[in-house]
Amino acid sequence: MIQIEALTYGYHGGIPLFEAFNWETQPGEAWAVLGPSGCGKTTLLYLIAGLRFPQAGRVLIDGNELKRPRPRSGLILQDYGLLPWASVRQNVALGLNVRRFYGPDGKHAPAEALPPANVDTWLKRLGIDAIAEKFPGQISGGQRQRTAIARTLALQPDLLLMDEPFSSLDAPTRESLQALTLEIKAEQNLSLVIVTHAIEEAAIMGRKILLLGQPPNRQAVVIDNPGSEHPAYRNSSEYLALCQQLRSRMEPARTMYATP
Ligand code: ADP
Ligand code: MG
Repeated sequence: MIQIEALTYGYHGGIPLFEAFNWETQPGEAWAVLGPSGCGKTTLLYLIAGLRFPQAGRVLIDGNELKRPRPRSGLILQDYGLLPWASVRQNVALGLNVRRFYGPDGKHAPAEALPPANVDTWLKRLGIDAIAEKFPGQISGGQRQRTAIARTLALQPDLLLMDEPFSSLDAPTRESLQALTLEIKAEQNLSLVIVTHAIEEAAIMGRKILLLGQPPNRQAVVIDNPGSEHPAYRNSSEYLALCQQLRSRMEPARTMYATP
């Protein structure tokens, strides 16, 4: 699905975040990208989304080198990106309306009819149909994130990219949204890449885990997590052991003051 070949990328004036970096995912896989703050997780997601481009190397999706954002890649950001003056229903319909106007290539209105809008289906599936007429300022953080997810799913993505989507939610809300995301991923046969700095979240969401460290990242460190597909994994000793392993392998963020 995603192929990253000899990727080099850094911001002006900084050390490269990625240097000749290779990584590959298969269709239908669930990946968590785990690493400390500042290691380049969001940047990697933007490169996969076609919002930034390699300084060297290539990013391919389904064998095609990315030159622009890809219509079937859905991106969900940490701060939801909802329009405050639009209702939940209008926010969920937003992407569809934009696509209807500009067409799937972002330039031309669609030549053939699009599939019927499935806004109501997604409002129900995310459990926000009862608050569809409310505005973002009137609903909880969990409901806002559900709205953002519904908006993205209404566009029928085959690849879901999520940047720390649950980090500002309380634990029970976070856990229920993690479970719901995995259910929908299986139902819709999506590929998933979820970026997180939280070890527990990576262990729950990632059937495979890409561990990033202090830049430059030169080699993909991949950890297999087959247990994540079993229900009740969160309560297993296997899960606890994995969290411990990840904790010991995750480099702490560089501190300003060197310890003697
Ligand atoms: P993460 O998501 O893992 O916290 P980011 O990909 O956001 O990391 O950022 C990686 C590094 O690149 C950080 O040191 C950050 O300060 C820097 N960085 C991010 N965006 C920019 C930018 N637009 N311009 C310059 N530096 C940036
Ligand atoms: Mg980030």
